[in-house]
Amino acid sequence: IAKDQFDGDVEFRNVEFYYNADKPILKNISFHAKAGETIALVGPTGSGKTTIIQLLNRFYDAKQGQIMIDGEDSTSYQLDNLRDHIGVVLQDTYLFSGTVRENIRYGKLSATDEQVEKAAKIAYAHNFIKYLPQGYDTMLASGGMNISQGQRQLIAIARAILEDPDILILDEATSSVDTMTEVHIQKGLNNLMKGRTSFVIAHRLKTIENADQIFVIKDGTILEKGNHETL
Ligand code: ATP
Repeated sequence: IAKDQFDGDVEFRNVEFYYNADKPILKNISFHAKAGETIALVGPTGSGKTTIIQLLNRFYDAKQGQIMIDGEDSTSYQLDNLRDHIGVVLQDTYLFSGTVRENIRYGKLSATDEQVEKAAKIAYAHNFIKYLPQGYDTMLASGGMNISQGQRQLIAIARAILEDPDILILDEATSSVDTMTEVHIQKGLNNLMKGRTSFVIAHRLKTIENADQIFVIKDGTILEKGNHETL
């Protein structure tokens, strides 16, 4: 199957995963994320958060159980079609040697300059870009090494807003950034997550507070499910 748009209803049904059959990594993972919800995944390092997300975009496939997207088994979609609608923002998104504009446009190559700048405004990235020596035409070094890590995140958020995925995977950065940048990142992320089903490997308390569902992952299982009030 291929679809132009996904609602973003995601259900894991008794999902099992391992790299080697003698060492289970995910055991009996079941949950239902309704379209538009924000799901925060929390838990210790090595507990399986990244693996859950890698199964969602079919980087790997489940060994047992089913992953349903909009009511269909995720393996019944064309892989490209599915991935086109799932956006991924990692802790440190790779920026390439090119202008700020080109780096944002990478989310949608057909975007006009106006669309790029609009996305940057929604991402709260415009605030710092406008003060760069050549604004949107400022050259970034390979890896974005001539701007701060927080600023790289803001560009990654702008890129993802331009990409406009139906389902979002977000690995929140752990590194601390200055207070103003932190505020902008938080607002940009809120705008990015709005209206999309979002799975966040969460490190910020604010993200966890605002999540519709929080899953506490431990040793490859969901230890607890709830929200900020119930957990
Ligand atoms: P972190 O917070 O550190 O990112 P995590 O909760 O995301 O951790 P995962 O990355 O999903 O945890 O890892 C779950 C388990 O799978 C760990 O025990 C890890 O060692 C193991 N693992 C991850 N990738 C592989 C791999 N390619 N081959 C074998 N084992 C792996």
